[in-house]
Amino acid sequence: MRETAQTVWKNCLKFIKDNIQPQAYKTWFEPIVAVKLVDQALSIQVPSKFFYEWLEEHYVKILKVALTKELGEQARLVYIIKMENTYGNKQPYTERIPSSNRSAVKTQEVDIPLQNKNPELKNPFVIPGIRNVKIESQLNPNYSFENFLEGDSNRLARNAGIAVANKPGGTSFNPLLVFGGVGLGKTHLAHAIGVDIKDKYPERTVLYISAEKFTQQYIDAVKKNNRNDFIHFYQIIDVLILDDVQFFSGKSGTQDVFFHIFNHLHQNGKQVILTSDKAPVDMQDIEQRLLSRFKWGLSAELQHPDFETRVSILKNKLYRDGVEMPDEIIDYVAKNIKTNVRELEGAIISLIAQSSFNKKEITLSLAKEIVEKFVKNTKREVSIDYIQKVVSDYFQMDVDTLQSKTRKRHIVQARQLAMFFAKKFTKASLASIGSQIGKRDHATVLHACKTVDNLSSTDKQFRKYVEDLTKKLSL
Ligand code: ADP
Ligand code: MG
Repeated sequence: MRETAQTVWKNCLKFIKDNIQPQAYKTWFEPIVAVKLVDQALSIQVPSKFFYEWLEEHYVKILKVALTKELGEQARLVYIIKMENTYGNKQPYTERIPSSNRSAVKTQEVDIPLQNKNPELKNPFVIPGIRNVKIESQLNPNYSFENFLEGDSNRLARNAGIAVANKPGGTSFNPLLVFGGVGLGKTHLAHAIGVDIKDKYPERTVLYISAEKFTQQYIDAVKKNNRNDFIHFYQIIDVLILDDVQFFSGKSGTQDVFFHIFNHLHQNGKQVILTSDKAPVDMQDIEQRLLSRFKWGLSAELQHPDFETRVSILKNKLYRDGVEMPDEIIDYVAKNIKTNVRELEGAIISLIAQSSFNKKEITLSLAKEIVEKFVKNTKREVSIDYIQKVVSDYFQMDVDTLQSKTRKRHIVQARQLAMFFAKKFTKASLASIGSQIGKRDHATVLHACKTVDNLSSTDKQFRKYVEDLTKKLSL
């Protein structure tokens, strides 16, 4: 009996494979197991309810054609959903299902008459509790659109965010990727979209998660043999907000699992929002297939806010904190702190703190004192150590590798760039630069500076490295 089911299914698969994309075949058909054949009803086992719903939604036609070819007009398909119950809602989500609890595994059969497309028959069961899984959104209500001041630097990203919030999954901005440097508002904007969606569509499941936490959860899930539960958990989300995806770089296991989750969500019209500190073209060690997904929707950059925007951000912040400050001082702070919004806020907070602790009035001279400290603090960071750190981060190697004796071309290049920038951004002598970057002599440093000069005028890719790094280092 079992053999017949398998033969029939094997023939169906042959036909299906010829007619759909290889990736789709791999994802959705390879995991299926043919279980039994009774009369003209073939039972196949699928790993989850989502799987079944997805097949029903996307492949019911081809399944029907294939089965009818094999079994005739009376063919029927029965899905056996292998699922684990106990979907509680209090546990942390990676541990939703105790993997040891194998007795909790049960199967549920869904008999789908292929002829009948009556929607009432399409979902003849409800898994108890599953629709009511409550997922904490992890959103910060203070990070709202209202508090996210608009300016030229963020107009596209902010408005795309609003469009997405109005129609999650229903715009072509899917995924919406917001990218930009540190402290420019990526996290804030990502939350704002989620907060607004929760407000407009309270019944939708929204989840904010950092890529780092996602990675950690995934590692834990693998350790506990819960990989499938992990995937299924993410597949029931309506709006997934993943912050700092650049964190995935070099982590192929996490990328792989995210790829599957992404595909599932996207195919089901669910919204995905991503943030990253780099544009997709500049992301390193992220698989091509994932990068190409990132580019499906809209990539919107957050740039450095201009003076007017900085002023309105400051005014908004002061207003919310109920603090008054002369315009002159606000202008002064906004004029002098250009790097990023986080520092702008930091300076104003320390100004308020200083004045209240020391019972000093907020004066321009106090503002100068504090701003100077902020600016100095940022300046002080451009040390040779800092340069080496930035350069090695950029090329995703550690500082030890950068300093090593190897002659491997990309490492040599990174080292030469570090030397070049040390010469450019510090007052250190060639000899001192050499001794700090892998114990080289001054001639090596000189040679490095010349090589970088040459290469940046002849090699386009190399020039991009120099430009990117210059930007990073002059922040
Ligand atoms: P990123 O994630 O890009 O590093 P964040 O979203 O953490 O940056 O933003 C840093 C700080 O700057 C946050 O406190 C955020 O509220 C504030 N901020 C950034 N952009 C704006 C803006 N356009 N309006 C108001 N506040 C902003
Ligand atoms: Mg952030």
